[in-house]
Amino acid sequence: MTPKNILNADLHCHSVVSDGTMTPEALAERAKTNGVELWALTDHDEISGQHRAAAAAKAQGLHYLTGTEISVTFAGETVHIVGLGFDPDDAAMKQGLYDTRGGREQRAMEMSDGLAKVGIKGAYEGALKFVGNPELISRTHFARFLVESGVCKETSEVFRKYLTEGKPGYVPHRWASLRDAVQWITSAKGLAVIAHPGRYKFTPNEEYALFTEFKLHGGQGVEVVTGSHTTQEYVKYAETAKEFGLAASRGSDFHSPDESHTDLGTLPYLPGDLTPVWALLEDRIQ
Ligand code: AMP
Ligand code: MN
Ligand code: MN
Ligand code: MN
Repeated sequence: MTPKNILNADLHCHSVVSDGTMTPEALAERAKTNGVELWALTDHDEISGQHRAAAAAKAQGLHYLTGTEISVTFAGETVHIVGLGFDPDDAAMKQGLYDTRGGREQRAMEMSDGLAKVGIKGAYEGALKFVGNPELISRTHFARFLVESGVCKETSEVFRKYLTEGKPGYVPHRWASLRDAVQWITSAKGLAVIAHPGRYKFTPNEEYALFTEFKLHGGQGVEVVTGSHTTQEYVKYAETAKEFGLAASRGSDFHSPDESHTDLGTLPYLPGDLTPVWALLEDRIQ
């Protein structure tokens, strides 16, 4: 494959291995149907779907990069770091992600206790019905249970009313450090990317610190065109990419046909003056 800027690359989405509703195989098929040329499955804190995804991509005739999205705590906020093109059998990375997943069960039980206090009973058991990977119970699974049980109409309403800071089902959590997450990825010969920077509630100083420290630890990329950004944010983070000398990534963050507003492969192309992450990962494209 010749890496070029105008490429339908979708390097961010989720399967049942984390909080998506589709299997890696069904996602590969959907990506192909939607015209994706280069694909990566980026499950939260988990790479056990990578061999399946790579095989499914091959069966569909799609180019593939390994992927994950690591939960990180930075300046008291949760930040997501996408890893691309790493060795999916790297032992240190597997252990780091296993440790990162470790607190989810306890957190889920505390979330359930918080929801019980406002009259929503059985949320832990309810959320579990939606979980595809017992090591990866997430807020999304609680959101699906609250929609199913009629408490809210859609998952975004659940997050707004119950699952974000200050709300009854929110439990603060300490994830991996920025330094560790970037190191796991780079030591496994991958490229680290700041996911959807427009989503974080940082002051300009905090955001500057995030990009500066990320670079210092060896991070090389930032998502510019993502399902989480507005058109203005494409422009803003294209500038940030150039300011910090970072390569740019593109990904829908697709989770589910019923919930996601951006489908696989449907975003605008990256701006032409940016270096795409896939140009730095040429030898790792399968
Ligand atoms: P967790 O890793 O358990 O904290 O869950 C985070 C996931 O929740 C994200 O990856 C999204 O899939 C989902 N999420 C976060 N905020 C929202 C929101 N406002 N609306 C819908 N889904 C959300
Ligand atoms: Mn998610
Ligand atoms: Mn994310
Ligand atoms: Mn994501």
